[in-house]
Amino acid sequence: MPPFRWFVLAAATLMALAAAAPAQAWSPDVAALQVALRANHVYTGAIDGVAGPRTKGATRRFQRRRGLRADGVAGARTRRALGRRGRPPLGSRTMRVGHEGWDVAGLQFLLARRGFTSGPIDGGFGPRTGGALRRYQSSRGLAADGVAGRSTLAALRDRDRRARPRRPSGGNARGPVKFLRPVRGPQGDGFGPRWGRMHTGIDFPVPHGTRVGAAGRGTTTFAGYNSGGYGNLVIVRHRGGFETWYAHLASVTSWPGERVRGGTRIGLVGSTGRSTGPHLHFEVREAGRPIDPQPRLLGASASVIAGPVPSGLECTGARDRRPPPPTASPATAQLPAC
Ligand SMILES: [Zn+2]
Repeated sequence: MPPFRWFVLAAATLMALAAAAPAQAWSPDVAALQVALRANHVYTGAIDGVAGPRTKGATRRFQRRRGLRADGVAGARTRRALGRRGRPPLGSRTMRVGHEGWDVAGLQFLLARRGFTSGPIDGGFGPRTGGALRRYQSSRGLAADGVAGRSTLAALRDRDRRARPRRPSGGNARGPVKFLRPVRGPQGDGFGPRWGRMHTGIDFPVPHGTRVGAAGRGTTTFAGYNSGGYGNLVIVRHRGGFETWYAHLASVTSWPGERVRGGTRIGLVGSTGRSTGPHLHFEVREAGRPIDPQPRLLGASASVIAGPVPSGLECTGARDRRPPPPTASPATAQLPAC
């Protein structure tokens, strides 16, 4: 496609984006813009695809530097000024190893959102991006050719739409803080003493690979391995000094700095860390201390199963009655008894 048509397409895409995107929505185009702004040393925030104040401010800085009208909107002229990083638009060509630019950054962002990380989101289609793409394609039953054409992109974007949260949550801005259930499925052991130990959260005995959604609006502050027993762990910070912890994940699909809403996928259920079988260990912390999540769970009784929890699904832990100290680092915080 000739460059002129790229720019027309780009302008149309971005004008639609500016007009229609609600403040909290993310998009691969915004992620691509963030990558380009970062490369121009005007943006140091997260590549989260959210057109927030930092992204708009960085766009204005870039525009001022280039003598463009500093309106904070990445229109056609701004994209042209971004050079090879500002083009071509996502979907305008079949992407493959060796390509670079706006569309590749968008592709890498979409892959990362699905949990197929390709290294840094930098707009360069190298072997790692190719590998992540092939893994994604085979997971979706597509031809694993490592080439991002129309059908692969459609699948990535389609899933993108469906993965968007439909239910508002985390309570409204002033009301009491409430949380959604992080997984669909039965609830096992609750918070409190168990076998003479302190259980600091709620267990959900659901199958390996079950999608885990953020329990409410917030920002991911930790996404990685915890050596204290939690295994692969995601921590989301919410308003009011609350945090939610999601432990033993098979894989982590969120990243520090990601802004999440209720239902945003943050990982998949697993059995990493001190755990004897697949389940989600879910904690709510207030001012750093684990509290009983139950009173703050929305639809609290909806999916509680009566009767015993299947055996072999509980965590194992050190015999420690004390909850972890609030100052513990997320990477090493000890799981007293899961
Ligand atoms: Zn547990």
